[in-house]
Amino acid sequence: MSQSLAIQLAERLRSEPLDLVRIAGEIAERSGYGLYLVGGAVRDLLLGQANLDLDLVVEGDAVELARALQRQAGGEVLTHPRFGTAKLRRGDLLIDLATARAESYEHPGALPTVRPSTIVDDLARRDFTINAMAIHLDASNFGRLVDPFGGQEDLSRKRVRVLHDNSFIDDATRMLRAVRYEQRFDFRLDPATERLLRRDVSMLHTVSGDRTRHEVELILREPCPEKALARAEGLGLLAQIHPSLRGNGWVAEKFRTARATAHPPALGLYLSILVYHFTDQEVEDLATALKLPGATARVIRDSVRLRQSLHALETPELSPSTAYRFLEDYSPTSILACAIASDSPLVQTRLKLYLDRWRHVKPSLDGQALQRMGIPPGPRIGRMLRALLEARLDQRVRTRSEEANLVRLWMSQEK
Ligand code: ATP
Repeated sequence: MSQSLAIQLAERLRSEPLDLVRIAGEIAERSGYGLYLVGGAVRDLLLGQANLDLDLVVEGDAVELARALQRQAGGEVLTHPRFGTAKLRRGDLLIDLATARAESYEHPGALPTVRPSTIVDDLARRDFTINAMAIHLDASNFGRLVDPFGGQEDLSRKRVRVLHDNSFIDDATRMLRAVRYEQRFDFRLDPATERLLRRDVSMLHTVSGDRTRHEVELILREPCPEKALARAEGLGLLAQIHPSLRGNGWVAEKFRTARATAHPPALGLYLSILVYHFTDQEVEDLATALKLPGATARVIRDSVRLRQSLHALETPELSPSTAYRFLEDYSPTSILACAIASDSPLVQTRLKLYLDRWRHVKPSLDGQALQRMGIPPGPRIGRMLRALLEARLDQRVRTRSEEANLVRLWMSQEK
């Protein structure tokens, strides 16, 4: 096993990371420290999937190891001695180093109290068995797997399993992580883990908005987030975040359309689709529950405000300039969200025309050109440019000289 893992590891890491990891392994060996690759990279290596996340854990001083590695291999080091962690960056390569630690929780949802410890203790504080494996990097054991919780077997049985019965109580974000991994890898929750999750579902309230938002964002960054959302709805997790959140077939269809339109869709776009049918108050409640940053909250607010007035775009004879005036104050993301989520073909067409064409239209003449034509500087210039823009949008003028003719006409009428 260790031989073949060492070879796989060597193959997966391009030569530069492998170099660094080997040097780190030699330094660790000389200092008498155990050094390990941990987390998602180990899981993905065993699954045969690419993952260049270099999360290393050292049974010893990670800050000291990072500095020694920098002296030998170059790069820049950023250290957090208080947390026993360090980052080494060399070119586009990033290695995270952490001192092996054990942890305990004061109360549910609290950040854990940590103390330096062994790799097995470090793995014991992790979320699922499939994420709780390590690979030795120290020279004499290079490639040997450390798997105290049966992670490898769970990988082959396609199971997401917590390490102990209080795992979701200690950290309820793990419930969202569980469905994310389950759906990403096409695994199943281990039946006992699913029972624990259903038992502890209300514990999601113990988690801060920031941490819940982070996990929701991670779900939305998955290739097909709708799968995890459907599962999260089925398990009652979405309702804990907000009672009106859905992960149903409508959401799935609209998410697929979003991906066909924008690659990858911005988080604000996915969130706008999720809140499309919300009331203003529900949007505010969700923004508070997830502590959404101001810009994202504005986008989803805009989407719902626009959805509520989309009927204005159903008028059969609507000039482009009127539609433009109606839409120009909304963010492009909220307009795209409504183009995707609206079920009216006419509305969809107008929203897409705005995004693809109308919002990019500019008159050929600018303020200086108008001054050269004899219009004095002042607010009149702004009004004329706006009128020229609308004439362009409605195709009453198509060329620079037609614009100039129109300006001359206006000037003669104003005399
Ligand atoms: P991904 O492929 O989603 O990036 P990852 O496993 O690299 O997966 P990270 O969020 O980068 O995920 O976390 C790194 C490791 O830290 C995980 O593999 C897991 O061992 C541990 N971990 C992360 N979050 C938690 C948590 N809430 N509770 C316990 N362990 C966690």
